[in-house]
Amino acid sequence: MEKMLSLIVPVYNEEEVLPVSFEKMDAEMKKLGYPYEIIYVNDGSRDGSMKILRAIAAENPHVKVRSFSRNFGHQLAVTCGMDAAKGDALIIIDVDLQDPPEVIAEMVKAWENGADIAYGKRLKRKGETLFKKITAFAYYRVLDFMSGSAIPLDTGDFRLIDRKVADVFLKMREHNRFLRGMSGWMGFEAVPVEYVRNERYAGKTKYTLKKMLRLASDGIVNFSDRPLTLCGALGVFLMALTFLGLIALIVLACCRVSFPAWLWALCGGVFLQGAIFIALWVQGLYMNRMYDELKNRPLYIVAEELNMDE
Ligand code: UDP
Ligand code: MG
Repeated sequence: MEKMLSLIVPVYNEEEVLPVSFEKMDAEMKKLGYPYEIIYVNDGSRDGSMKILRAIAAENPHVKVRSFSRNFGHQLAVTCGMDAAKGDALIIIDVDLQDPPEVIAEMVKAWENGADIAYGKRLKRKGETLFKKITAFAYYRVLDFMSGSAIPLDTGDFRLIDRKVADVFLKMREHNRFLRGMSGWMGFEAVPVEYVRNERYAGKTKYTLKKMLRLASDGIVNFSDRPLTLCGALGVFLMALTFLGLIALIVLACCRVSFPAWLWALCGGVFLQGAIFIALWVQGLYMNRMYDELKNRPLYIVAEELNMDE
């Protein structure tokens, strides 16, 4: 049977970009030669986005729309689109044309050549503020350190995923979602497709600083226990340091060398602080286990089977 593609586009207050964005994306999808659907998820827009989507859907039966009752956030909008997608490959793209639709063809080529995931890797960002460029650069590096390189550098959610990857995604129902991290956790054969990130076609970013910080902390907390390890390491360091300090003070006292008495209090106090850090770390380890169980992810993911049918 012929394969089908699903394009998933989250939309939040994007009336300025929607008409042009649809035209460009639809034209690119048409060129690929597969049957396709475009799924717009309206993430509780309060402008005219939904009106435009209604008009587009009325004329184009291959355009599907799901509209949220309120703003749930980009990651949940994409998840909702993935839940509805029927395609053999799913492509996730921003509506604002920052992810160039021409790159979809390259992703599809990588998929035809056997890639399970083809993810967009940003070579450059055009037209974004210096603040965004610097914070993004720094954040991706911190995330890389914290997650032990499980998430490729400078990569957003612009990507193509094969049906078998999407099926695993659908089983992962955790509430705090960081899609690119979940994708890294799943494994599979992921191929980078390099591109230059465009300027936003029109309008302003819908990722407020608050939303960005939330996403950033989801990325770190959901995919790494390194913050915990750092807490434990600090405790061990403080205890070791003040233990040596206390020994030094005892030696000095035995040799009858005089020193201020508050040094005892300082070393003793910091020693106990170190013990508290270690206690927090141990508690954190238990909480982390609970969190893992709550996420209830699949225990393992089988990518291929040979001679396994009964
Ligand atoms: N978006 C969304 N819900 C939100 C914020 C953003 O669905 O709460 C969509 C938005 O319409 C766009 C994509 O997510 O298609 C990326 O948002 P934006 O371009 O504002 O982020 P930036 O590119 O500035 O990081
Ligand atoms: Mg954007």
